[in-house]
Amino acid sequence: MATASLQTAAPGVDLEKIESVRKKYAEEAQKRLRPDAGAQFLTLKDANDPRLQALNEDPWANHVALNARPSPIQDSKVYPFFVVGAGFGGLLFAVHAIRSGAATAEDIRLVDAAGGFGGTWYWNRYPGLHCDVESYMYLPLLEETGYVPTKKYAPGWEIREHAERIADKWQLRDKTLFRSDVDSVTWDDSSELWTISLTERRGPRGSPVISHYVRAQYVYLAAGILTRPQVPRIPGLASFAGPMFHTARWDYDITGGSQKDQLLSGLRDKRVAVIGTAATAIGAIPEIGKYAKELFIFQRTPAYVKPRNQEDTKLEEFKASVATKPGWQFDRQINWNSFLTNSTSPGQPNLVRDGWTDQPAYSAMMGSPNQAELDTSSPESIERLVTNFHILDLPNMEAVRSRVDQHVKDPKTAEKLKPWYPSWCKRPTFSDTYLPLFNEPHVHLIDTDGKGPSRATERGLVVGDQEYPVDIIVLSTGFQLANLRAGSPASRIGVKVHGRNGYSLDKKWDTIGAATLHGYLTNGFPNLFFSGTSQATITGNNTMMLNFVAQHVTYMISEAKRRAGSNKRAIIEVTREAEEAHTAEVVKRAPYFSAIAGCTPGYFNGYGVVAADPATKQKAARGATWSEGTRSFLKYIGDWREEGELRGLEITLRP
Ligand code: FAD
Ligand code: NDP
Repeated sequence: MATASLQTAAPGVDLEKIESVRKKYAEEAQKRLRPDAGAQFLTLKDANDPRLQALNEDPWANHVALNARPSPIQDSKVYPFFVVGAGFGGLLFAVHAIRSGAATAEDIRLVDAAGGFGGTWYWNRYPGLHCDVESYMYLPLLEETGYVPTKKYAPGWEIREHAERIADKWQLRDKTLFRSDVDSVTWDDSSELWTISLTERRGPRGSPVISHYVRAQYVYLAAGILTRPQVPRIPGLASFAGPMFHTARWDYDITGGSQKDQLLSGLRDKRVAVIGTAATAIGAIPEIGKYAKELFIFQRTPAYVKPRNQEDTKLEEFKASVATKPGWQFDRQINWNSFLTNSTSPGQPNLVRDGWTDQPAYSAMMGSPNQAELDTSSPESIERLVTNFHILDLPNMEAVRSRVDQHVKDPKTAEKLKPWYPSWCKRPTFSDTYLPLFNEPHVHLIDTDGKGPSRATERGLVVGDQEYPVDIIVLSTGFQLANLRAGSPASRIGVKVHGRNGYSLDKKWDTIGAATLHGYLTNGFPNLFFSGTSQATITGNNTMMLNFVAQHVTYMISEAKRRAGSNKRAIIEVTREAEEAHTAEVVKRAPYFSAIAGCTPGYFNGYGVVAADPATKQKAARGATWSEGTRSFLKYIGDWREEGELRGLEITLRP
């Protein structure tokens, strides 16, 4: 490791302190490692227990209105563009397909399991939900729609309504089939089209299920990654006699209130248990705490909680200092991103000034261009790299821990709420009300020392020998994710995808590991595109990423179509050589991410499973993200576009 910014011998650094903190981090991580890793959870959808399975049902779909709509799809028809998922990823693809001239709205069909637009923001409606990155950067297409978010961190309902706004502006509403699962996407070698098999689940409950088959020229997989609510396999959980629900399916019938009116009067005489203390819980718990008679918070690992500093948008100020010129939203995203990738220029202003921009060591996860002379040839140089991240991170995490002392009066409780892992192991959380809540007499922290409740009973939850009787259990236990590095784009979304000669996308990944051009298309699967961070870049602000993936992919399609002319169709396929060349660029830099391996278990590091055999290690390296950060990646794919040759793509023209 040779660049100045990655040296460990910075003056004034207390290396003994760093060592002792790292030792504590390692002990805490070790305490949480489990052989069953991700298998400790089960998805609500796949639960055998009917009670748990029922918790997965869509509480929000307006079946009467949806049943009255004419169906947007006709069986066997060929659609030019087919999009799996109608969250921001799917919407942005459709918008850019239209804006690039590759498609009209009429050419596009979207399908979503949900009963409306918004993806994450459709399903998650729990009280306290806001975006955790500034709304001026997070809500996409603000310039194009003219919308101004009401707050620095917009509430969930406003973000969902923005998704609806985008769908309406680009006439996508009557092109979208809701309440439908895409089951498989299969390439037909003779017609050279995709066949999509899907299941429409009309409501209310008990209504017949309808199978559909449609065909399409271009398919875009935008089915998200945080879509399958999961619960830990806590023995006896389903036997709990009171109401229980997952935060991704909030039950306002039980709590009272609604997404817009979060007066949870139904909790006033209730003892409520919350399992989980990560990003979702940090938003929901203070709202529950306002109303519940007693609140029991079952903590396995403390979140790291930074200040929120919420503000209402002042229109004049917004116009004067945020939306200052065309292209401001992208400029703002890039300005913010340069802090996350520890690559600001001297004198660069910090436009957003939030709790992301003061933690440069998050670049251990996001990548950084500060590695021109990265030397990963020896364990010693890797160790120096990792040590440097810890040096960079310590002031931030010390501030986070001392903030706990500032807000929580009881020192024992404060100690239990302190996070002992580096910043890059989890997504940061932001709240001004979470920590002070523990000073309230009706709020009880049940710290399980890294283990979670040992079992549930009819009456409540048990930790060790102690039973905690409660009336309601709220499951804030996250989502099942495929292995983010080694999982195929099909396994990430739980859809079966078969390409040329019936070859399965999962099988390709199992055999050789990730193999893509720029992260978004793969050989053997023509005219199929997907979003994601593997072999591409991770941005912190997810809609920024979804926006430029959509732009990049629709550039490829529109350019290929332009070459085909109006009376031919273009089949786009990346060559094996081109995807291996891109993969080699990713692999070469993958050791940069070595600091993640030592993280406390969680979905960022596949619950701590470290590949031991060389073949699995190699696959993990192939699936890494672009280690030089987002701006470097955008330059890399931007230069490729500039060449104007669609280098590495084979375009076959068909009548
Ligand atoms: P999603 O929004 O997940 O949409 C995917 C859609 O695909 C879903 O509606 C799903 O129903 C559908 N789908 C899945 N499988 C199928 C199938 N087989 N057939 C048909 N439809 C299917 N990111 C940030 O950057 N900032 C934030 O503040 C932020 N907050 C978040 C808060 C919560 C509670 C969660 C869970 C995530 C948050 N994220 C945040 C991440 C968020 O998921 C992304 O920002 C973004 O919304 C993802 O958009 P998407 O379209 O890729 O996926
Ligand atoms: P996570 O997977 O991040 O967290 C799940 C929580 O459940 C963790 O605290 C976990 O503890 C806990 N848990 C799991 N099993 C048990 C158990 N057996 N006993 C006790 N606790 C248990 O899910 P979230 O829904 O919180 O967040 C998912 C992602 O969604 C975030 O990372 C973020 O990207 C996004 N998000 C963003 C938000 C925003 O503010 N805009 C809000 C919500 C989510 P442990 O850490 O020990 O595994």
